[in-house]
Amino acid sequence: MDMSEKKDALQFVEEAVKFILVGTTHPGNIGAAARAMKNMGIKQLGLVAPKQFPDEKAFYRAKAATDILENAQVHETLIEAVSGFQLVIGTSARNRKIPWPIMSPREAAQEILSNHKGANKIAVVFGREDRGLTNEELGLCNLHVHIPSSDEYSSLNLSQAIQIIAYEIRLKALSTEGKSKKQEWDVPLAENAEIERLIEHFDELMQEVEFYDIDNPRLLLTRVRRFFRRSKIDHIEANIFRGVFAAIQKKLKR
Ligand code: SAH
Repeated sequence: MDMSEKKDALQFVEEAVKFILVGTTHPGNIGAAARAMKNMGIKQLGLVAPKQFPDEKAFYRAKAATDILENAQVHETLIEAVSGFQLVIGTSARNRKIPWPIMSPREAAQEILSNHKGANKIAVVFGREDRGLTNEELGLCNLHVHIPSSDEYSSLNLSQAIQIIAYEIRLKALSTEGKSKKQEWDVPLAENAEIERLIEHFDELMQEVEFYDIDNPRLLLTRVRRFFRRSKIDHIEANIFRGVFAAIQKKLKR
């Protein structure tokens, strides 16, 4: 990577990557998060239903990163906050019953940087101090990141988890390995909300053809969701599937 490519990568991180904190209880953690982010050149912060914000404790802990707090966007729900994003990465201190594609911070940083020119709206989502992200929130994500902490005590302080992930992203942006020879795709990747509609539409269709017992879908819906979330489909592909589902529904109604 020559100097201009390196600058390119850092600029890409600044423009494309947003960190979203869900349901944060302590405003001090929000401030510490802003500082950790700014130190690593990540500037976009989203807050979903923070308990206390704005708050002077947040501004105090942010030190010279108060601009990040001032520009932070506040949303009511995660689904709304990530609707326009093409790559949504959830962080989790624990493993889940159904495995999702899971990466280390380093691998996730690689994924983010290799999306240079692919996905350019990337969100990294962090959970509540006491109970992390809900299964529903994790289900909106394309992949999950776990910091390989000790089994004995796996959950880090929120802002420290943010620091580690932000650092890995910066390191990858600075390193020559971040050089991406990624193929440029001809169509933008589908956004989070498009895929959500696709999942809902497919569920509707499965119900109409009585594919499953509505009172007992068990893990079927989670598996379907996981498939669509990890598939990296683009905007046109999403429209093709929506069109096919609609055509089948139309035939069924005749
Ligand atoms: N008891 C909660 C811990 C939440 S810690 C739980 O088990 O989920 C608060 C947030 O910090 C998490 O939602 C996640 O965003 C981040 N975090 C903490 N430890 C982490 C780890 N080992 N890997 C990835 N993210 C982590």
